[in-house]
Amino acid sequence: MELSALAGKNQFYGVTWILKLANMIINDFLTTANHDDDFKSSRAAQMQGRLQVLAAIYAIFGALWLFIDQRTLSEEMFLSIGFVRILMVAAFIVLAFSRTQRRSLWAVRIRLFLMNLIPTVFFVVCERLLENESSEIARLVYGYYPFVIVVQLAVFPLTIVEGALLALAPFVGMTYLAIVSGTVTDVTTMGEMILAMLLAALAIWAAVSQLRMLMYLYRQATRDPLTGLNNRRLLMDRLAEEEQRAKRTGQPLCLMMMDLDKFKRVNDTYGHHAGDKVLQRFAKIARAAIRATDVIGRYGGEEFVVVLPNTSAEKGLEVAERLRKQVEEDVILLGDGQEISATVSIGFAEMTASEDSAVMIERADVAMYSAKETGRNRIVLA
Ligand code: GH3
Ligand code: MG
Ligand code: MG
Repeated sequence: MELSALAGKNQFYGVTWILKLANMIINDFLTTANHDDDFKSSRAAQMQGRLQVLAAIYAIFGALWLFIDQRTLSEEMFLSIGFVRILMVAAFIVLAFSRTQRRSLWAVRIRLFLMNLIPTVFFVVCERLLENESSEIARLVYGYYPFVIVVQLAVFPLTIVEGALLALAPFVGMTYLAIVSGTVTDVTTMGEMILAMLLAALAIWAAVSQLRMLMYLYRQATRDPLTGLNNRRLLMDRLAEEEQRAKRTGQPLCLMMMDLDKFKRVNDTYGHHAGDKVLQRFAKIARAAIRATDVIGRYGGEEFVVVLPNTSAEKGLEVAERLRKQVEEDVILLGDGQEISATVSIGFAEMTASEDSAVMIERADVAMYSAKETGRNRIVLA
């Protein structure tokens, strides 16, 4: 290949690489707008666990510091700061032991904010109390607080916006202290601010890298690589959640068990690669045919399940029929000009008040086999 062509190609790859990165940042790392619910709650659970450990560590070190205060502060000052310190330690103990009921992202976000707010309020109060204190050591030590608060963000998998907002508290505290002490334009104040910003940037970078790793592993663990649909593990988790919700609210829950017809013949006639293409195409059609709140997953080789929350059998059967028809009408063009079309047999079940989801799947499965026996390319209601 000519060098100029190669350079052109490299440039092209460079541009696509940057576009891909920008797209990834906007979609995955800036905010949670495109995170699916299951990832949100699984990240929330991760953060909640770490937050409890961090709060426990702060409670222990916060209490240990009483010995340092006792040796470096005047007795009067020790009593005042000690009192505020004990309040802070108590707040951290509460955070260390309080668990959120549900794996709610907002509940964890509020706790994360408190993790920043509590030490921020503490160092602001202490710095004010220490204004006229002669002990240089004490003043120096309390001046480190904002840096520690900013750095703690690195412990959590955060989006860029979450990281930036959470980092704000210590900056507000520092600015307030600089204003009341009239040191806003001092070079030391500016130096401290810039250092805190640098640490915040590093911590947010670490936090976003954690988010990236978590998302990568989550996708590996929950997606079927061929079709991009939920794998069986996530499918069953989501079904269990929807089952609980339906039992709690009394809303209907339906399930479709789908199996491609005579699929072995597709493989035998056109090869496995063509078979894979048919599976991918089916996944695309099926995903487009259902609502965003419905859950679809690959249950086995050429078997797929759709969970239809808050859906009556009547409405669900309409969805199933639409899907069946679209699959039947679709024509897949192979590279060599050959055409394949596929059909699907569907077993449909609505959960009854007395049964659980395992029984519902079983009934849908039996219905699906009865669809096979009665001619395929049809829906049978269990
Ligand atoms: P029926 O209409 O009764 O369902 O017939 P069938 O041929 O679809 O049923 P069977 O269960 O015997 O065959 C399923 C086939 O699906 C067998 C297997 O080779 C194929 N299969 C399963 N997973 C994959 C896959 O990931 N890729 C490809 N290409 N084929 C797969
Ligand atoms: Mg099968
Ligand atoms: Mg089959």
